[in-house]
Amino acid sequence: MAEHDAEILAGQLENMSYKETLEKDKADVILVVTCCVRQSAENKIWSMLGTLRKIKEKNPSTIICVSGCLPQRKGAAEHIKNRFLHIDLVIGTHNIHRFSELLREVEEKKIRLIEIFENDVETALHEGLPVKRAHDVRAWVTIMYGCDNFCSYCIVPYVRGRERSREPEEIVKEVKELAAKGYKDITLLGQNVNSYGKGLSKRVDFSDLLEMLNEIQGIKRIRFISSHPRDFTDKLVKTIASCDKVCEHIHLPFQAGSDVVLKKMNRGYTKDEYLELIDKIKKAIKGVSITTDIMVGFPQETEEDFEHTLDVVRRVRFDAAFMFVYNTRIGTPAAKMRDQVPENIKRDRIQRLISLQNEISLLKNRELKGKTVEVLVESEAKEREGWLCSRTRTNKLVFFKGEKSLIGELSHVRIEKGYMTHLEGVVLE
Ligand code: SAM
Ligand code: SF4
Repeated sequence: MAEHDAEILAGQLENMSYKETLEKDKADVILVVTCCVRQSAENKIWSMLGTLRKIKEKNPSTIICVSGCLPQRKGAAEHIKNRFLHIDLVIGTHNIHRFSELLREVEEKKIRLIEIFENDVETALHEGLPVKRAHDVRAWVTIMYGCDNFCSYCIVPYVRGRERSREPEEIVKEVKELAAKGYKDITLLGQNVNSYGKGLSKRVDFSDLLEMLNEIQGIKRIRFISSHPRDFTDKLVKTIASCDKVCEHIHLPFQAGSDVVLKKMNRGYTKDEYLELIDKIKKAIKGVSITTDIMVGFPQETEEDFEHTLDVVRRVRFDAAFMFVYNTRIGTPAAKMRDQVPENIKRDRIQRLISLQNEISLLKNRELKGKTVEVLVESEAKEREGWLCSRTRTNKLVFFKGEKSLIGELSHVRIEKGYMTHLEGVVLE
């Protein structure tokens, strides 16, 4: 989400005739796009903002801007204003459409500006903003903003606001434009894509949207992230199975295996319900890969609770997982819960979890040896002369030796070797 925000902000910079540079020392404008979902991410931002002070001292005309969800967190924008005097412009998540206008004002009047729209102010969706896309073959398309789920640990509903869906016509228009520009792989973005459609005047849900997008010529692959287990309907499972362009990859965060913890997290499902859903998905969607988000060390999590998490990991055999240590986010209900888990126990659990999941990821990738897979070639491989980087429909990275002319094309590759995070193969055509 933050990376796509960065594309929209960069689009505005490009419209103002700025060109990208990777040399911070030479930049006229430095834009920091932040995320505050986890404390660890937030800590990195504070330290980065500190280091930018030196650049400002050297080049006082450099304009430094901070955007994203950190300034939207209660008290953060004030903190930047008072403690980071070298930051010129601070904007939040609801007003990114105003970035170029505010930047112009900072440039012309040589002032500092902070503009944050509160979450409870009705925030309109702004269509048609310029986007400077980071990739040439695949593109992100936001279908809904915000989140209404209020998981008890999560800051997203407070910094990204209430759930708002884009009109289906606008999404179809954007995807058609992407297809016309040669994009073949699109990823639909939202905090909970499968509750898409709430609040729209027409009755349209996420399955209907997938069907509409499946008709668009030129698009070869449709992906989406993230889904919530509670809103994963039978209709959606059927739609994914029947739409040929919708990829066989589902990212379905489960967070924790213990029913007690899931309840305290306000996730709205039990371990058995999650496992049943996974069974249903595996039966209906041939060759599906499943990835997830998992958190350890939620307040009051016991060793027995944690064993349930490991049990889910063993039973589902995820292809990959994002695994996190629970961080307190001030303002969320979990921050006030008693019996926070000590850091050493959290560390121990995350290590055990990561080593189990790594073993499974490696075995699953090794099982693909000898199989032929369809890949979309994305780019040259970094630091591997003559190699290309491609992706399977199941969202696995495959490296192989090949001509640059294959970039942007679908190819078939025979897998020769599976590693924990990627595959290697030989191109067949
Ligand atoms: N909306 C998605 C869902 O519910 O599945 C996830 C979006 S959230 C921005 C991404 C992930 O960050 C979550 O799935 C969760 O595992 C993790 N996360 C959120 N709040 C966290 C916290 N306070 N501490 C650690 N991890 C957290
Ligand atoms: Fe956060 Fe839960 Fe919403 Fe995901 S569904 S963004 S974890 S509140």
